[in-house]
Amino acid sequence: MTPFEYRPAESLEHGLELLAEYGDDARPIAGGTALVNLMRQRLVQPAVLVGLRGLGRDPRLGGVTRQAEGSLWLGALATHTAVATSATVQEGWPLVATAFRRVATPRIRNIATVGGSLAHADPSQDPPAALLALDAEVVVASPDGQRRIPLDEFFLDYYETVLKPGELVVGCTIPAVPSGSGWAYQKFLPRTEDDYATVAVAAWVRLDDAGVCRAARIALVGAAPRPVRAPAAEAALVGQRPAEAAIAEAAELAKDVADPLDDWRGSASHKRRMVGVFTRRALDEAFERARL
Ligand SMILES: Cc1cc2nc3c(=O)[nH]c(=O)nc-3n(C[C@H](O)[C@H](O)[C@H](O)COP(=O)(O)OP(=O)(O)OC[C@H]3O[C@@H](n4cnc5c(N)ncnc54)[C@H](O)[C@@H]3O)c2cc1C
Repeated sequence: MTPFEYRPAESLEHGLELLAEYGDDARPIAGGTALVNLMRQRLVQPAVLVGLRGLGRDPRLGGVTRQAEGSLWLGALATHTAVATSATVQEGWPLVATAFRRVATPRIRNIATVGGSLAHADPSQDPPAALLALDAEVVVASPDGQRRIPLDEFFLDYYETVLKPGELVVGCTIPAVPSGSGWAYQKFLPRTEDDYATVAVAAWVRLDDAGVCRAARIALVGAAPRPVRAPAAEAALVGQRPAEAAIAEAAELAKDVADPLDDWRGSASHKRRMVGVFTRRALDEAFERARL
């Protein structure tokens, strides 16, 4: 690693000031699980690290809470463990708790943060699948104020987001999940249990009292340069009774949005096929839960 100066932020405003002061020389660091690896490989060589860890003591930045209007708030400094083990999340947003619990190992989950996961934008990360399927919004701060970005518009490409230099993720909000919903997170892990997904699928569906699908969201990770929704597959389910043929058609349509790379987790064609298989499994499980 090349030498760097460490400047702990004492507040969100102080962190933004430090980033503005050092400009391109500075990078924020939260858990450090991704950034330190990049620095060791000299893929990034910041002269100044702006430490965000202490901001986790701020109830909003470190919090995992149900907000007054019923949505869920995940503060940027909340750890993956805090999200996965929160009774509020497990009860109201079990898809979110499950996806955060499927990340790596307890050691990583104990320090990796919500904001770090979003800003790092590795397209194989687990949390974005669940957050995308539940229509999350990211809240971002800059010296000019705060803005909200639908998660579907947040990721641009491999390791690239719409974050501008000097901006910080403050947290994200996830709408309340209505009754009649079902969900599933299916992660394809042919190697080890703590690996990144080869592909993974988050599904969220809602049935009416007659058992007709009124809403469906399918989000894929590991399948494209960024986490993606599968809108044609979702549309094919709405208005249908979710029988085997409708689910098979949706799973086939989901493959059309897959644009994976050949890598050591599998060839692009294998991953595309697995998108079909794991979308079908996720939808089967989600509809099963919605019927309960
Ligand atoms: C061995 C290993 C296995 C892993 N396996 C998985 C897995 O299976 N699934 C999975 O989902 N994840 C996995 N991860 C974790 C994940 O990929 C990231 O390492 C983690 O989410 C990053 O969080 P962090 O808080 O450590 O971020 P950091 O490493 O501190 O930062 C990551 C990036 O985000 C920026 N950043 C951090 N916080 C903010 C903020 N608030 N605002 C703006 N920018 C910010 C940093 O500048 C940096 O560019 C794994 C990590 C490791 C090391």
